[in-house]
Amino acid sequence: MAGNRTFTMIKPDAVKAGHIGAILKMMNDAGFKIIAMKYTKLSPEMAGKFYEVHKERPFYGELVEFMSSGPIVAAILEKDNAVEDFRKLIGATNPAEAAPGTIRKLFAKSLGENAVHGADSDENAKIEGNFHFAGTEMFD
Ligand code: UDP
Ligand code: MG
Repeated sequence: MAGNRTFTMIKPDAVKAGHIGAILKMMNDAGFKIIAMKYTKLSPEMAGKFYEVHKERPFYGELVEFMSSGPIVAAILEKDNAVEDFRKLIGATNPAEAAPGTIRKLFAKSLGENAVHGADSDENAKIEGNFHFAGTEMFD
């Protein structure tokens, strides 16, 4: 059975460009409810740990540097079939390949600086949500 929560971040490029409000509105309009949310900044150590699965990939260093370069918005969102539906809302990793109307198509700058993160499985959504939030910061 598909879970009902996912984890997202509005990445430093989209924050810097002033797109927080527009992106949150798209999440809201698509039916996602906010369970937890914070405006924060990742240290290089935290970004490195968050993206540890990509450690061996050639873009890892650049990704860690980018994700710790400025503030982000981190959030846990709730909706039926949350992980899959949210990945559809954000679009493909590379904005050049993202479907029209998706968050990445509208706001991402490049493959690396692609505006938003979305968890890729129920299991990772839970791990990533718990990485950023204490139980006392989650409200349903
Ligand atoms: N990324 C990159 N170069 C690549 C692939 C990915 O810089 O060739 C970055 C990009 O910011 C992406 C993140 O690494 O969002 C994580 O990659 P993943 O394959 O998990 O993509 P996502 O799940 O974010 O769509
Ligand atoms: Mg991923």
